[in-house]
Amino acid sequence: MGGDHFSTDKDDGVKLDKFRDECGVFGIYGHPDAARLTYLGLYALQHRGQESCGIVSSNNHDLRLERAMGYVSDAFDQPRLDRLEGSSAIGHVRYSTAGEVSIREAQPFLVTCQHGQIAICHNGNLPFAAEERRRLEREGAIFSSTSDTEVVLHGVARSRASSVAEAIPQVLKEIEGAFSMLFLTPSALIAVRDPRGFRPLALGRLGESWVVASETCAFDLIDAKYVREIEPGEMIVINEEGLRSSHPLGERPVSMCIFEHVYFARPDSLIFGHSVNESRHKMGMQLAIEHGVDADLVVPVPDSGTVAAIGYAAQSKISFRFGLVRNHYVGRTFIEPRQSIRSFGVKIKLNPVRDLIEGKRVVLIDDSIVRGTTSKKIVQMVREAGAAEIHMRISCPPTISPCYYGVDTPNKADLIAAQMSIEEICKFIGADSLGYLSLEGMMEATGISFNKACVACWNERYPTQITASAETMWERDREAVHLQSRSTSHKYSTDPKLLERITINPEQLGGTPCIRGMRIRVKDILDLFTAGLTKNQILKEMPDLEKDDLNAALLFDSLQHDNMPVNKHDNMPVNK
Ligand code: SF4
Repeated sequence: MGGDHFSTDKDDGVKLDKFRDECGVFGIYGHPDAARLTYLGLYALQHRGQESCGIVSSNNHDLRLERAMGYVSDAFDQPRLDRLEGSSAIGHVRYSTAGEVSIREAQPFLVTCQHGQIAICHNGNLPFAAEERRRLEREGAIFSSTSDTEVVLHGVARSRASSVAEAIPQVLKEIEGAFSMLFLTPSALIAVRDPRGFRPLALGRLGESWVVASETCAFDLIDAKYVREIEPGEMIVINEEGLRSSHPLGERPVSMCIFEHVYFARPDSLIFGHSVNESRHKMGMQLAIEHGVDADLVVPVPDSGTVAAIGYAAQSKISFRFGLVRNHYVGRTFIEPRQSIRSFGVKIKLNPVRDLIEGKRVVLIDDSIVRGTTSKKIVQMVREAGAAEIHMRISCPPTISPCYYGVDTPNKADLIAAQMSIEEICKFIGADSLGYLSLEGMMEATGISFNKACVACWNERYPTQITASAETMWERDREAVHLQSRSTSHKYSTDPKLLERITINPEQLGGTPCIRGMRIRVKDILDLFTAGLTKNQILKEMPDLEKDDLNAALLFDSLQHDNMPVNKHDNMPVNK
């Protein structure tokens, strides 16, 4: 992945400050038009991934694979779909939560092994796959991609079980992580969901055919009927004998991803059996109860804030207006990593309606603030359009921790709510007031009980152990330069006398902390450190710097952020 962690917002290329969706899967068994229906299913799931897509079909003898980069509608044409003959198929849309962005990483993966042909596609993330991959590589295994999903495929291929359906639980029972997975063999479609149920997976019926999908909106497009959620830990095998359900992965506490309801899923989907639209509407209503304000207009940040804004307006009796208009036709040409282009991108994508906003007290509703930079631009735009007051309201709690379960998130160091108080964020984005929905209010709105939910990105209570290697994999995937440590094993010097070496130098360097008597900013030292230079390399790079100056800079930063900076040459800290 590139060095820029901004997400593309759903269906175009302008980068907004959002957690990024994971992937979407779709499968169908027993329909003469399986590949075409999979194409349509993926089309409905396009918001879950736009980097690449692929379909594998089965004609009962062989599997055929077609994969491509880009959108489903661009990637598949008539001849390509014609090549995918057969009555069952699985498909995938991908964002790169793990692995690089390239056609090699596009799913489904297809291999031939002792069990015959097997295809796999996966929504989720396997934080522990890195260790397993290293073990397999030591034993001589060859991987064609960097994806964690391939580790599972290797396990199944190497299993001595008598069938693929028996091999899958043998492999997945050992693996902790988030997986809603589909397998296709020439004769069967197999769907499996991890015992914690992080990511959604729904079962549907189209006539006599069975369908499975990440979201039920994929069923609606093909007129399939929603049957039920595939349960956490459940495996479903569909073949000519019909559908067989089992729970071979054992039981673990369920922890369904609540961000699906806040942002990822389409509002017309049922996720974990609950309506996303209803959740978001209730979140908006609850937000109005918790953070009411005297105002003239409720304006959503489109599209992600729209449903919550309708709820907020309904509860507060303040009129709802589309005060920001979104350009839906912005192309991928605007994906650029540079800050200047990024800012431009926001303006290209959203435009305020001056006539509506001028002189008005506006409540702006969005679903989340990740780094704060986009919110700042939006507030500035609305201010420039003449708003008298801007009250920002967010339909989930402050996002303070990265996700290890299949969602592309920035480092903790880049999550604004992990670094600033709500008052500081409000000041940073330039709003007159800022209010976040409480954790309790959000959960109440989803109708999902706390003991079945993952809310780790809001409260840092990860449902699984996060190991150093999981963090390393996560960091590698995002080319992270900051891995924040909660470890006490790091022994940077904490001698407070060191801090006397730090000074604020308003004249030379605009008020930023510097090393006393020098024009060296603490930030510049930290940038080198977190980019992976060793202390000795930094001292070489900055010949005027003494070792204690370097230690002072690290200590100063750790006190600022209530934790220690870590670089790639340190031992990886172990979380929890
Ligand atoms: Fe979802 Fe957040 Fe949990 Fe990740 S950490 S699974 S985004 S709730």
